[in-house]
Amino acid sequence: MSPLTFVSQKSSKKSHGNPKPVPAYFPTSKDSILIPDVKLYDAVREAPRRLTNTYDVPIRSGKAWKVPKGSVVRISTPEGPQVCDFNCWEANSDFKEHMWASRTRQLHSAHVSTYDKLWSNLPYLRPLLTIIDDSLATYGPDEHGGRVHDLLGTRCDPYVDKLLSGQDNDFHCHSNLYRAIREFGGQEENVHDVLNIFQLTGLNEHDQYFMETCPAKAGDFFEFFCEVDLICAISTCPGGDLSNWGWGEGSEDRDGSDNIGDMTSVCRPLKVEVFQLHDSTEILRNWHSPEPVKYRGNHGL
Ligand SMILES: [Zn+2]
Repeated sequence: MSPLTFVSQKSSKKSHGNPKPVPAYFPTSKDSILIPDVKLYDAVREAPRRLTNTYDVPIRSGKAWKVPKGSVVRISTPEGPQVCDFNCWEANSDFKEHMWASRTRQLHSAHVSTYDKLWSNLPYLRPLLTIIDDSLATYGPDEHGGRVHDLLGTRCDPYVDKLLSGQDNDFHCHSNLYRAIREFGGQEENVHDVLNIFQLTGLNEHDQYFMETCPAKAGDFFEFFCEVDLICAISTCPGGDLSNWGWGEGSEDRDGSDNIGDMTSVCRPLKVEVFQLHDSTEILRNWHSPEPVKYRGNHGL
């Protein structure tokens, strides 16, 4: 660890005689929405489909697109490792209903893969999408506890870069996502905590967030089924595959010693493909686009 780093959390475990805790969020009946309909999502993944849109997203840029419920979206790394910062909103909510990273962490896990859903914020709380395929599903955990498709962290942004490096950089994921959603009327404050697709992360022995080099190869992909009409947005992170990550372009590195140089050499494009099922009436016969939770109380008012 860098001698410049302060950390409050001890690395050694201490026994208090506590019983092993169980996951805090769990299904309470066999019909629970937390139990995935594996048959349905397998059928969607395997069904004949036609490509309706392709977006090639250059390095250090953002792209937003609308996609109707019942569609399948595939995000891939056509040229090799590259981190993808992902946001989504219910398309008819004027950006009010968006993916809620922390609740998704609680309902599923801090990294997500096939059959996990991305949930929306309050007062909605419904699945916006369900992941149906993931070519990196068996990658983790690695020897450091790293896992792929990260909900622990959030997007890089120009404010934290200025804070840490003193520099003004305009192509962080926060800014890339903001520029992208302007096409649909989105504002800066509509950018929210992301899913870091293809990003390998974890917490170390001091409970600190770490990022490892993106393990994706050319052609790796992450695919999801749209449970509601969506606006999606991605950013090709300016850190690229994160093998040369540091704050400030060409600034001093994390140990305060070397020059990290230009990270563009480890940046690669991403590809988005949108598909419609050929015969959705048959495959989606028993599927219903989820409604927001109908809480009838009034918060005790
Ligand atoms: Zn980023």
